[in-house]
Amino acid sequence: MIRLAGAVPDPSTYPSERMRKVIHDVLRREGADALAYGPPAGYASLREVIATRTTQSGAPVRPDDVLIVAGSQQGLDLIGRLMIGEGDSVLVEAPTYSNALQIWRLYGARVVGVPMDEDGLSPTQFGAALRRVRAKFVYVMPTFQNPTGLSMDEPRRREIMRIAREAEVGVIEDHFDADLRYSGVPVPPLRAYDTAGQVILLGTFSKMLFPGLRVGWIIAPREVRERLLEMKLACDLATSLPAQMALAEFCVRGELDRHLEKVRKLHAGRLRAMLDAIDTYFPENISTTRPQGGMTLWCTLPDGGDALEILEMAEERGLSIAPGVWFFPDGDGRRHFRLSFVGEGEDRIRKGIEILGSVIRTHLARRRAPRRREGETAPFL
Ligand code: PMP
Repeated sequence: MIRLAGAVPDPSTYPSERMRKVIHDVLRREGADALAYGPPAGYASLREVIATRTTQSGAPVRPDDVLIVAGSQQGLDLIGRLMIGEGDSVLVEAPTYSNALQIWRLYGARVVGVPMDEDGLSPTQFGAALRRVRAKFVYVMPTFQNPTGLSMDEPRRREIMRIAREAEVGVIEDHFDADLRYSGVPVPPLRAYDTAGQVILLGTFSKMLFPGLRVGWIIAPREVRERLLEMKLACDLATSLPAQMALAEFCVRGELDRHLEKVRKLHAGRLRAMLDAIDTYFPENISTTRPQGGMTLWCTLPDGGDALEILEMAEERGLSIAPGVWFFPDGDGRRHFRLSFVGEGEDRIRKGIEILGSVIRTHLARRRAPRRREGETAPFL
């Protein structure tokens, strides 16, 4: 199976040998102390590393602002528990990350999608949605959005924050893959433009490194952080200490930056290979985003196209894609699908896109052909 569906880095890129050495060294240095419960808010050195990296990205943060969690998925869950009451409304980009949608719903939220344009969440649509809906918060991915790969430029970020400030609405900023930039200039997170303490920023090692250690973080204003910490305690007491120690050491040794340098080059090549193959093999009436980073891009079929049908046909030919309906809160999205460009090597990506191009052509030709009702025989021509 050529996997173009999942937004997870290729396991063959995981620096397992370097991590093995770091874990070994940490256990030798810390002994049994590494195997205790960690501090509930997280291991101090790791909080420091994360505060430094976030500050370098343009949003000044102190180690105390950082709460370590078991993956940003746990962060989303804690935020859902804390902030959503039965019947509350939550705004999300349409499309958005499907497992976040699930959490907001789990806690009883009415989820309202806000349309995006080619630069991410549309300020006009955001403002209009806030006038229509009294939302508890907006969940947004300003950098290399999942699923579209789109990013907001700096003026757009300022504008979104200005609107959020005026409406006094919370902003959940999912910064899951912001370190995976392959072109263009880095833009600070929304948190950098937050003057009223409205932003809760989520981060993770899962995309820039690997997901298996299950370590992520929340950066939030003090009051919110303290309440999230109470929930974190109730949930699992603390995030795995040896995992945090290993990650802190991995970062301090410069291994994370070395790894990032490597995967950025690799991913950039894979993205280029995918876009070139799309230009070669897809019909011209398919539009595609051209991300500057991240893991995924987003394709839109002409009217009448149905990505669920394409998925079915593609699977029969050994190819997986993610259909758009997974990512919309309201059952929309049939004309769209998401492709991941990080999970396979360049040759398999080219092969996959060639197959997909032919599947799409067959699908669109069938759609154009006049449909026959059940039981109806083909007319003699
Ligand atoms: N946010 C987004 C947008 C994601 O794609 C993912 C992983 N699929 C997560 C959060 C959760 O990642 P993790 O729990 O591994 O940090």
